[in-house]
Amino acid sequence: MSTPREPSFRESVDLMFGRAASLMGLPPGLEEKIRVCNATYTVRFGVRLRGEIRTFTGYRSVHSEHFEPAKGGIRYASNVNQDEVEALAALMTYKCALVEAPFGGSKGGLCIDPRDYEDHELEQITRRFAYELIKRDMINPAQNVPAPDMGTGEREMAIIADQYARMHTTDINAKACVTGKPPHAGGIQGRVEATGRGVQYALKEFFRHPDDVASARLSGTLDGKRVIVQGLGNVGYHAAKFLAEEDGSIITHIIERDGVLSNPKGMNVDEVRAWIGEHGGVKGCPEGTHHEDGFAALEEDCDILVPAAIEAVINLGNADRIKAPLIIEAANGPITAGANDILRDKGTVIIPDLYANAGGVTVSYFEWVKNLSHIRFGRMQRRQEEARHQLIVNELERLDEHLGDAWTMTPNFKEKYLRGADELELVRSGLDDTMRTAYQSMREVWRSRNDVDDLRTAGFMVAIDRVASSYRAKGL
Ligand code: GLU
Repeated sequence: MSTPREPSFRESVDLMFGRAASLMGLPPGLEEKIRVCNATYTVRFGVRLRGEIRTFTGYRSVHSEHFEPAKGGIRYASNVNQDEVEALAALMTYKCALVEAPFGGSKGGLCIDPRDYEDHELEQITRRFAYELIKRDMINPAQNVPAPDMGTGEREMAIIADQYARMHTTDINAKACVTGKPPHAGGIQGRVEATGRGVQYALKEFFRHPDDVASARLSGTLDGKRVIVQGLGNVGYHAAKFLAEEDGSIITHIIERDGVLSNPKGMNVDEVRAWIGEHGGVKGCPEGTHHEDGFAALEEDCDILVPAAIEAVINLGNADRIKAPLIIEAANGPITAGANDILRDKGTVIIPDLYANAGGVTVSYFEWVKNLSHIRFGRMQRRQEEARHQLIVNELERLDEHLGDAWTMTPNFKEKYLRGADELELVRSGLDDTMRTAYQSMREVWRSRNDVDDLRTAGFMVAIDRVASSYRAKGL
């Protein structure tokens, strides 16, 4: 028997979209308008490196412009291609709609393995790629705002912002042309951790609903749950770290390029990350036992599986062997459409990418707003808030004196209560609220309609409905 063909990433996203749209009764023209990718720009440019001219290929795809700017990261990886960039841009549309970030969807990519280049070479390449996109307004605070993705980070975003400022010397909003910048270059506190933090908040919200937890054949809280994490990059690292340090989850397996590190008692995520930084992989790390076959570890027994690396790692080839009752898609597209059906039929609960990893773009939204308002969050209110809290504390202290031993203030209450929120706390609070609200809107559809049997379909339905309303409002 021949194995059925796995659809491409873009086809996979379209299939998931189609399943949701078929339950919504949209006019076919509108459905198609929302589904298709508006435009993809391909650029080939040369950079003189190591005495020769090297040609690079990059993409910027705009899936939707019902809100502008269109938003989405830029990925550096050797296998970047048009299909992938378009799939990722489409996911950005649905992601932004689901978390109510007022953006269209976009994504970019450069075919390059950043590990092959020195820092100064990467700067030259990034500057040139940015130049090509900026001169066509494919990077612009009002039209298209990139962010980090796989293989890129704060450094690349700072270079893009600088390149834009050089080319638009009088644009007062220049900094808002890209998000994910370092805090000292117009960034915001908490953006680096944001996607991983969002994964943690998503799981916390899921565990606040005992019915949902029971659907995944689990019970209780995140405390003591055994977690397999695939990919200890920015997203996987922060998600695993917060789950272990703050929620008591046990990180039993960490899958990386060179295999898997496992320890049934759990591992210290910072130690493993430091080891990878020094040795390039998990092999030899004393936190756990190493095995070459990382992919097989996706099939190990656990409570929660967190694919946080690349797309299509759970596919028709391994879906029926995945034991995890709950999967949270920290990466974009880690489960193919075919695998999704197999898992759904087995009763696996999937917290889908368009929701699970939306923490990154949510905090990008806060950064963009900060850049446009030219003021740090909390700067006006913080001391005023502290002064009002001081009034209450003064009253409580008076009561304390009056009542003697009959009542005393809880130790540390005063310090904790007096301190006004700083930018990081405000960002986390905004992110937490966003993740809770988005989950509830998705859950509402999942629980209230018996023709909707998974969170992904529900999430797509909420997102599509919002995009459709915005097109309708424009008279489409
Ligand atoms: N690249 C991230 C994502 O896939 C972040 C996008 C953004 O912040 O614009 O969601």
